[in-house]
Amino acid sequence: MIGHPIAHSLSPAMHNAAFAASGQDYVYVPMDVLPERLPEAVRGMMALGFRGFNVTIPHKEDILPLLDELDDSARIPGAVNTVVIEEDRLRGLNTDGSGFLEAYYEAGGELRGRRVLILGAGGAAAAISAAVLEQGVCELLLINRSAGRARRLYEKLVRAYPEANVTLRPLADRADAAKRAEILINATSLGMEDDSLAFPAEAISAEKTLCDVVYRAGGETPLVKLAWEQGARVVSGERMLLYQGVESQRVWTGREPDIRAMSSVLFGEIEVGEGQV
Ligand code: NAP
Repeated sequence: MIGHPIAHSLSPAMHNAAFAASGQDYVYVPMDVLPERLPEAVRGMMALGFRGFNVTIPHKEDILPLLDELDDSARIPGAVNTVVIEEDRLRGLNTDGSGFLEAYYEAGGELRGRRVLILGAGGAAAAISAAVLEQGVCELLLINRSAGRARRLYEKLVRAYPEANVTLRPLADRADAAKRAEILINATSLGMEDDSLAFPAEAISAEKTLCDVVYRAGGETPLVKLAWEQGARVVSGERMLLYQGVESQRVWTGREPDIRAMSSVLFGEIEVGEGQV
């Protein structure tokens, strides 16, 4: 896995637990790669015979020109979270969208015909936006702090899904939009290191589904905690993390990953060793 910074990631422990449980001779290593050294790092991994790697902040978009091939899952959002090395070719995918959907449906919700609000316009927001549009939502509202980034995502989505009902709203509309939407998705990093809420408490109720892409090692985010208290259906960042990891590992190894072992790391049954999180 490459990113910068990378120390907070639960992915190494999660993947290594599955490899150990199924006796597969792979190891997943977190590597802190500075933005200016990305091309060198990628060439190094190819030279060393890596099977593939995950890509996280800040490389998800910058890696695009270094790849030979892109799946639709990465091409439409314009962001890659998984790379497979096939001999001397690099194939980019994005499993954040499919991981989100798996976690969403596991929680028992519907997407077809629903009104969805996504806060954020980064890599996670792009992958999830494309994934929910594929599921036939009736309206997708996009809101982001930086208007330029929101507009770029909006234009990308409208090009890829010309029939879809996608609306761009300013940040000031966040509270109103959250009240109107049936499904609220926090796809920003709000709540990762602070206790700020992506949506106002009044907008979260038992009739709504609250999805938070953010996860914290060893505890719920404030938004998820609030959503449980208000009786909402909840899709947590940990469940999405689990399923995006399952899909990435499936692609690298060609085998069905040991989901129980991966889940145990995230949900507390297996101890995560020092330095692994
Ligand atoms: P990214 O590309 O850097 O995008 C970050 C997003 O957060 C942008 O929309 C940014 O808005 C917004 N943001 C950051 N600080 C903010 C603030 N103080 N107020 C309002 N908006 C703020 O990152 P990403 O890859 O999309 O990841 C976003 C979060 O999702 C991270 O916490 C990451 O760990 C998490 N994630 C989780 C999973 C999972 O499997 N659960 C998968 C992928 C990502 P601007 O555009 O205005 O800067």
